[in-house]
Amino acid sequence: MKSQEIRKEFLEFFKSKSHSIVPSAPMVIKDDPTLMFTNAGMNQFKEFFLGNSTPKDTRVTDTQKCLRVSGKHNDLEEVGHDTYHHTMFEMLGNWSFGDYFKKEAIQWAWELLTEVFKIDPDKLYVSVFEGSDDADNLGLDTEALELWKEIVPENRIIYGNKKDNFWEMGDQGPCGPCSEIHIDIRSDEEKAKVPGRELVNMDHPQVVEIWNLVFMQYNRKANGDLEELPAKHIDTGMGFERLCMVLQDKKSNYDTDVFTPLISEIEKITGNKYGEAEDANIAMRVIADHVRAVAFSIADGQLPSNTGAGYVIRRILRRAIRYGFTFLNSKEPFIYHLVPVLSKQMGSAFPELRSQSGLIENVIREEEASFLRTLDQGLVLLENLMKESADKKISGEKAFELYDTYGFPIDLTALILRENGYELDEKGFGEELKKQKDRSRKATQVSAGDWNELTNVEEDSFIGYDNLEANVKIARYREV
Ligand code: ATP
Ligand code: MG
Ligand code: MG
Ligand code: MG
Repeated sequence: MKSQEIRKEFLEFFKSKSHSIVPSAPMVIKDDPTLMFTNAGMNQFKEFFLGNSTPKDTRVTDTQKCLRVSGKHNDLEEVGHDTYHHTMFEMLGNWSFGDYFKKEAIQWAWELLTEVFKIDPDKLYVSVFEGSDDADNLGLDTEALELWKEIVPENRIIYGNKKDNFWEMGDQGPCGPCSEIHIDIRSDEEKAKVPGRELVNMDHPQVVEIWNLVFMQYNRKANGDLEELPAKHIDTGMGFERLCMVLQDKKSNYDTDVFTPLISEIEKITGNKYGEAEDANIAMRVIADHVRAVAFSIADGQLPSNTGAGYVIRRILRRAIRYGFTFLNSKEPFIYHLVPVLSKQMGSAFPELRSQSGLIENVIREEEASFLRTLDQGLVLLENLMKESADKKISGEKAFELYDTYGFPIDLTALILRENGYELDEKGFGEELKKQKDRSRKATQVSAGDWNELTNVEEDSFIGYDNLEANVKIARYREV
């Protein structure tokens, strides 16, 4: 089944259960100071859950463009290295605003997966909230458990803790237990070695979460106490690309038709072959993923820039350029060539991509050209530094200057030095970084919940993301 049909089947299924199909909200959020990007399907329905406004329809379904690169949901570092987390992805969802509750949500999810999509039930695991012995003192979600017991054998049911199986919007507001559906797509041989249920929530590339069913039944009050909501809600989210992986019988999201046209084009342009070398594979996945994030942002009106959301987008694009530069040997702009491919693939579901594709191409090409110049300049400077160093050591200060003043990525510095047998004073670099952070205390990043992603961020001093990435990357390159 093609991805287009899978998306359509999902929406049609819930339409047949009296849901209205609604459009995706924009991925870039303009009017909420606490959230820059949509990171879940339920974002656009927040006011309904909070009781601040009343929905026209009490049952809706959609596919939502999401971006998870900051705050509570930051998957950026996983992207490309694993095969099932993306920056930008589609979240398929069905909602009940005070209408149906657990019974229908569970039954329909199961019916869709096993009867419509014909997924073998023996591959599926479901989880229920086990309760908590903290201040909330919540019991096991027996209601969900009993419903699942009617559907699946008990050895398919996992008991999950608060971290995995209790959803909260933020410090306050609607919350409740959830049931997640996980799939084990390993070979029988692999399955014989370790039971799938032991791998659920363990970051195994072939035992992955596909659908989260959230049962909003409480309200968290300002004093921290929970009270039962008068009207209970359903909020579900299923990863579209993961579903495509399962239904197209692939082991990686990147082997589905959502990504293969992009990967093929990258192969064609750069002359690398996907599947041959791990570094190049990662780079190709990073680029195929990031071009989607950047293209969808620009289509939503958010151009790369030096502040706020624009800065996040610029960093994502530069990450893609860097991976291409380092691992695919691409020294000329080329990512913009992927835009027509993407627009052909996704343009009918998301027409904004098609109508903006000229602009998207131009913006990406300009960004690539300019960042490649930065990289070239940085390389020259770095070579000079190496020539000047008699003891084959580069100080943290020098590396920081290259990073801070010239915009040369620290991971690249680390990689090049290592390849040439030079030593980088990483501790010294970290100290410089910390000094810079202290200088710009205005930028604080907190991640208490889905809605407390950023607080007190001055538009022009948003540096957290950048530095965070630099830190992590040094660590990663040390391991390579
Ligand atoms: P995971 O544990 O795999 O990180 P999650 O629990 O953070 O997923 P949810 O917030 O429950 O994800 O979102 C609902 C669904 O969206 C998940 O079940 C998954 O299928 C999908 N999903 C979540 N994050 C991503 C991502 N970064 N890329 C692609 N799909 C994702
Ligand atoms: Mg996650
Ligand atoms: Mg999870
Ligand atoms: Mg989840």
